[in-house]
Amino acid sequence: MKRLAALLAAFLAFPLLGCEDPAAEESAPPATEGEKVVLTEAEWKKKLTKEQYRVLREKGTERPFKGEFWDHHEKGTYHCAGCSAPLFSSADKFDSGTGWPSYTRPVKEGAVAELRDSSHGMTRTEILCARCDGHLGHVFEDGPEPTGLRYCINSVSLTFEKEKDGDAPAPKDGE
Ligand SMILES: [Zn+2]
Repeated sequence: MKRLAALLAAFLAFPLLGCEDPAAEESAPPATEGEKVVLTEAEWKKKLTKEQYRVLREKGTERPFKGEFWDHHEKGTYHCAGCSAPLFSSADKFDSGTGWPSYTRPVKEGAVAELRDSSHGMTRTEILCARCDGHLGHVFEDGPEPTGLRYCINSVSLTFEKEKDGDAPAPKDGE
């Protein structure tokens, strides 16, 4: 009987464990969290469109009011177009009037990396994807509350994942 009880307990526990993190098995990225994605330039060229490569890998800038997301207002999460890491939330997006999608903060600490950029005769802070070092845009100190920061990001560096019905940002379920 003891054995049966143990079996039963294991059986009952299994679906509970499975519910804890439904995303774990289906959509876990090949790189674990925090792990860097490092590809050669040739591999990036193959993986990205010309415009994505120009911005993400060559630190280009898309033309304002021309990108996909500057005037985009759906609820969801913006991911890196290079490595799919989640970078920004629609909850932190605001209309900056610049023609580029703008956010007050990254979706979580450590999602993006900062780098001092002295190109074009200006000193700015460049924003990179922390996982693949892809160029995203710049951060400025003229944003709205609560952070006072404006993360000015190229649409082409991002992909969007719409939030499913319900409050919590839903994990991707293996489309
Ligand atoms: Zn990335």
